[in-house]
Amino acid sequence: MRIFCASIATETNTFSPLRTDFSDFQESFYAPPGQHPVTPTLCSAVFTEGRLRAAKEGWDLIEGTATWAEPGGLVNRETYEQLRDEVLGQLRAAMPVDGVILGLHGAMVAQDYLDCEGDLLAHVRELVGPDVVIGTSFDPHSHLTALRVDNSDIIVAFKEFPHTDFVETGRAVVDLVLRTLRGEIKPTKAVFDCHMIEVLPTSREPMRSFIDRAKDMEGTGDILSVSFIHGFMAGDVPDLGAKVIVTTNNNPAEAKQIARNLGVELFGFRGATRPTFLKPEDALDQALASDAKPIVLTDVWDNPGGGVPGDSTILLRAVMERGLTDYAVGTLWDPMAVRTCFSAGEGAVLPLRFGGKTGARAGSPIDAEVRVKKLERNAWQYFGESIVPLGDCAVIELPGGGEVILNTNRSQSFDPSLFSNMGIDPASKKYLFIKSTNHFYDAFAKIAGEIIYIDVHGPYPSDPKTNGYRHVKRPLWPIVEDPFAASKAS
Ligand SMILES: [Zn+2]
Repeated sequence: MRIFCASIATETNTFSPLRTDFSDFQESFYAPPGQHPVTPTLCSAVFTEGRLRAAKEGWDLIEGTATWAEPGGLVNRETYEQLRDEVLGQLRAAMPVDGVILGLHGAMVAQDYLDCEGDLLAHVRELVGPDVVIGTSFDPHSHLTALRVDNSDIIVAFKEFPHTDFVETGRAVVDLVLRTLRGEIKPTKAVFDCHMIEVLPTSREPMRSFIDRAKDMEGTGDILSVSFIHGFMAGDVPDLGAKVIVTTNNNPAEAKQIARNLGVELFGFRGATRPTFLKPEDALDQALASDAKPIVLTDVWDNPGGGVPGDSTILLRAVMERGLTDYAVGTLWDPMAVRTCFSAGEGAVLPLRFGGKTGARAGSPIDAEVRVKKLERNAWQYFGESIVPLGDCAVIELPGGGEVILNTNRSQSFDPSLFSNMGIDPASKKYLFIKSTNHFYDAFAKIAGEIIYIDVHGPYPSDPKTNGYRHVKRPLWPIVEDPFAASKAS
């Protein structure tokens, strides 16, 4: 038995001032055939899980390219086509194969391609024909299109947000593909469109119990797999929004019924799933009045993990104006300022302009007399077991005593190691300012005295009602109050 695997993944914020090309994939993660590391990346656990099963069961895993770019702006057309054709060429060379397993993110948009993953899957199907089993893993912050559903046999998305179950998801895809190939199951899928876009963290209720129940359903009766696509509100594409996908063993009617039941329930959670997001002034009032230490304050929207640059100065300026001193910021993206700090050297004091350079909505740059406290080449942080590169980094100390980590590789704040690796003891600071929506939660909750979510109006399109989508034609909550009535009427 021969199974081919590959992974092309990024998340495209079509509103971002950034653009994404091949160098962004190289900078984040690019592993040609045979060079995938021993540990999985977020979207490539199908490689490591495939290796385990292949070694144990004695079949051939043929590895293609695995690559990931940090979420950013529109992918340039040549880059998408180059990566797609690279993987298709590897698949062609590997044929004949019995199965194809792809680790995808599912929110990639390229110039002239609103559905990159659908396009890739359609090409794969065309190449291998109708009888080869195709399995795919997706991030829930993606868009589920008919082209993807029609061209895959197995689709499984991470259930957890934060995505702590990406390894289990890879394992599930590999397992279901193998069981299909061995004739043990005949997967039948159904999709329900929830007609809504909402932030759906599973670290809190009501999502926590909902996901636990969905997990319990898997393996009972004919139910093979239950996945939820949350949607990604910064991707202006026709299929934006939450969807449920259920796979049963040769029981299409049950798949359809369960997808519908769960989808209707999920729709009922709208407006009640987020933690409280405070405005900056209220957040700082609450932090100043609190005895907790450290207080983790997250700028939920200026999150490079959502494709914005991550160089907004709006919150930092408010912090400086309030006169806070005992704080650290991790991180602010500014490769140019990092370079200046390296030129100056550790210990140097210099006037530095940093942050607020990439767009009109991220605040203006900050000018301050800073001390270069620490410099680190190729700094990194943990995300679970993964190592996330931050590039060359500089810690600068501001006149009031606050410390800011400037980074070269854009990344959201995943883990307190981002501070400790730069010589800052996170537990010793009163306030830790980070940029992340919810992926930070597991690791930071372990050290945080208190966590405050801050809604800073900045470059991220955080309000679907005013984002001005051009490609979304289906009625969606919260843009319309009752999207199901609206879709019946139209
Ligand atoms: Zn995600």
